[in-house]
Amino acid sequence: MRSRAESNESGDARGARKAFAAAAVQPRGAVGPEPDAADLALINQQFALAELAPEDVYVRRMVLANDALDRSYERFTPAVLERFARTLPGKPVLVAHEKRELPIGLVYRAQVRPARPGEAGDVSLEAALYMVKSPENAAVRQQIDGGVVRYVSIGFRYDTRICSVCGQDYADCPHLPGEEIDGATGRRGDGGTEGRGEGETVYYTYGGDMSRYEACECSLVYLGCQQMTQLVKGSGVGGQRSEMAMASGSILTGGNDMENEKALARVKELEGEVRRLSEALKAADRETGGRGDGGMGRA
Ligand SMILES: [Zn+2]
Repeated sequence: MRSRAESNESGDARGARKAFAAAAVQPRGAVGPEPDAADLALINQQFALAELAPEDVYVRRMVLANDALDRSYERFTPAVLERFARTLPGKPVLVAHEKRELPIGLVYRAQVRPARPGEAGDVSLEAALYMVKSPENAAVRQQIDGGVVRYVSIGFRYDTRICSVCGQDYADCPHLPGEEIDGATGRRGDGGTEGRGEGETVYYTYGGDMSRYEACECSLVYLGCQQMTQLVKGSGVGGQRSEMAMASGSILTGGNDMENEKALARVKELEGEVRRLSEALKAADRETGGRGDGGMGRA
């Protein structure tokens, strides 16, 4: 999932940058579901091949990411979020990151802005999507309007993730996301009495070469990795809505792809360890002539 070089940037991405420049002029825009005149003009100018009338277009706003620690113990920096905002316009809106299906909408505007009351982190990445109304997407629009389909998640390319404890790249560091380690020794907590330092939770910060960061898509999902990333009304995600999102988040931690990736790596590592020890036991068994007891219980 490493990023491809910036020099390979497609015409689409260049168009997206242009769209963002245009979008940045008027940061408020339509809240939805009807586009305002400026948003409709932007959509028609930058994306639609045939002129769309206001009644053809459905728009919504969403908070896609922020700089708070997310459910998989990862954090975006404001610089990464800025990079996403630049590369988002023109990118597809998918369902559950399913790239084999055609998109249901398109992002036409994005910006990084200060977090509003009730939002996670200090800054939020806000994006606007549009859909061309059709009988086929009427049900999805209805569910979005009704607040049932509400969570969103960003798909992206990146450079590196840096461990909060050892400073190494995610792939090279011995820690696991969310793992509690001894702050003084840097060792893994094993439930024993070893180590007297303060407990510390391992997390990863996205970093490295910013030009390698690109937002590829955003999806309607059952629940995003990032805290409180959802379709929003004009005032952001404040009030009761955010409390609800927060509550569901605390119940539904774990089980996402980002966590599974590292857990699987750990399983592979342990499988390798088991293989290595089995080989060592067999070798030891051969050396002692073998007693046919299956090599168990050796010290
Ligand atoms: Zn580490």
